[in-house]
Amino acid sequence: MIGVETRYYMNVRVDNLLLDTALEQVESLIEQSKEDGVPRQVFFTNVHSIHLARKDTEFRRYLDKADLVLPDGSGLKIAGKVLEMPILENLNGTDFTPKVCRMAETGKWSVYLLGAREDVVKRCSEKLKERFPNLSLIGYHNGYFSKNEEDEIVEEINKKKPDILLVALGQPYQEKWIARNANRLNTHICLAVGGLFDFLAGAMKRAPLWMRKLGIEWFHRFLQDPKSKWDRILIEIPVFLSLVLQEKVISLTSKRNLNQLRWIFNGQRDRYIRS
Ligand code: UDP
Repeated sequence: MIGVETRYYMNVRVDNLLLDTALEQVESLIEQSKEDGVPRQVFFTNVHSIHLARKDTEFRRYLDKADLVLPDGSGLKIAGKVLEMPILENLNGTDFTPKVCRMAETGKWSVYLLGAREDVVKRCSEKLKERFPNLSLIGYHNGYFSKNEEDEIVEEINKKKPDILLVALGQPYQEKWIARNANRLNTHICLAVGGLFDFLAGAMKRAPLWMRKLGIEWFHRFLQDPKSKWDRILIEIPVFLSLVLQEKVISLTSKRNLNQLRWIFNGQRDRYIRS
């Protein structure tokens, strides 16, 4: 992919690219899928996914196999700076997906929403229609279903043939759901969008701009839902930071060792030439 550099942070994949390139990628993935009939998979990596992927090899494999994995959140920016592998742009799903919807409106791609509570996904679809009046929003289904209901849901999606399927079931279920069902879905691209429907529906408030600019939106999320998000603050962030530091030390040590080896090799060579 031109303009896309795949990198690994703590062994977890992130595609490093600018917003415009990412949107072009989405368009080209849809075009490719129209040709070969294979739905493309777009995921987002953040501190939480790195935490999950380190324990869950199936999830990590799905991230590796996806067609595009976008960097989400300030944690990755920090890791990028410390490890001297800078992230070009924070392409979190909450800001990125509405841009895809804007493209869908002009490109005439239809959209289906899968995930979140029934009242939330309904409200989210109303809000999307207000915001993008020409968007072809062809259906939605809540994300609280059993394994037995899955075939019926896939059948309903396939009847509607959406170009874009937005899946919001939380990580890692949404990525696993997409990966497991991709080969029987009649769609061109699936995006795993986490808490997006809650934000668009207004069930969850977005952090004020100053917090987003400071890169502490995660703290605002925690304040709204401390019961289910406490471990992300108290466990995942400290573990993540210590892993970043660990990787930094390893890279510094291996650089130093390499320099020492070079120094020894050059010394031996010079001695040999002189003799
Ligand atoms: N969700 C769902 N079905 C489930 C569990 C969660 O549809 O069985 C929805 C939930 O209502 C929310 C979204 O998945 O809208 C996940 O939000 P979260 O903020 O936890 O996303 P994450 O940060 O884990 O991706």
